[in-house]
Amino acid sequence: MENISNLSLLLPILGFFTGCCLGSFLNVVAYRVPRDLSIIRPGSCCPNCSAPIPWSLNLPILGWLILKGRARCCSASISPRYFIIELAVGLVFSWFFFTFSSDQEWGTLLASCAFAWVLIGVIVIDLETMIIPDRLSIGGACLGLILSLYFPSIHNIGHHPMGLDNLHSGLTSLVGILIGSGLLYWIGAIASRLFGREALGEGDVKLLGCVGAFCGWQGAVFCIFGGALLGCVCLIPIFIWQRFAKADKQAPGQLAFGVEIPFGPYLSLAALGYFFGLKEWIIPWFEWVDKVTI
Ligand SMILES: [Zn+2]
Repeated sequence: MENISNLSLLLPILGFFTGCCLGSFLNVVAYRVPRDLSIIRPGSCCPNCSAPIPWSLNLPILGWLILKGRARCCSASISPRYFIIELAVGLVFSWFFFTFSSDQEWGTLLASCAFAWVLIGVIVIDLETMIIPDRLSIGGACLGLILSLYFPSIHNIGHHPMGLDNLHSGLTSLVGILIGSGLLYWIGAIASRLFGREALGEGDVKLLGCVGAFCGWQGAVFCIFGGALLGCVCLIPIFIWQRFAKADKQAPGQLAFGVEIPFGPYLSLAALGYFFGLKEWIIPWFEWVDKVTI
């Protein structure tokens, strides 16, 4: 009994450290991948003056706090994004490790960490660069498929004998990839025809494949509509505010009809919501499909 209570205290701390380190790595990925730079070489260096950063100032969270957001080499300001991402991934992983201490499900732990890491990465990179790197979307879809084959619990699949669960779970993931990306591809193709301009990026289509790999087809379908709704809820008030409150000051980069808006962050937020809680409520919405198809 004492072991379990020790474990439930230690695991969230271990999760926090793991998350901070992987959050730090995510910062490297978010800076280098869209610029086509290697994520391994060279080691960490200042983005402003390229001076190498010693490991003692490169510690997750602490590094930014010690430097108070200013690079020691050239005093360039370091975005608080570095600190926020490390802290966010640390807290999220801490929660996953905490739930692992009670359910002991390795599949859920690995899938939760991998999926959340990919989605946080997509949110940051897509907001900054309007790019969703293939390494996150296609890489995430492959990882989701492999984890599903190993751990049927990711898709809440029960215990059939002779590995049938694994096959069932792998197929669920594969169908999720195909339906998720296929459906969004067609929505994008039809919207492009209607509006006479590209309506959806290829990156969004691949990202939805990744969502389908972890959430199954129901989750992918939910995220298309949930993401679009979330985008409207977030952007319409900003749009109206900019239109009326600051009508005289036409700032560049301001929201307007025809301005490209990244869809990836909203898809990712919807996917995070689905995978980490909303699934239980949303799966019953799709039960009618089984009745129609059988
Ligand atoms: Zn510098």
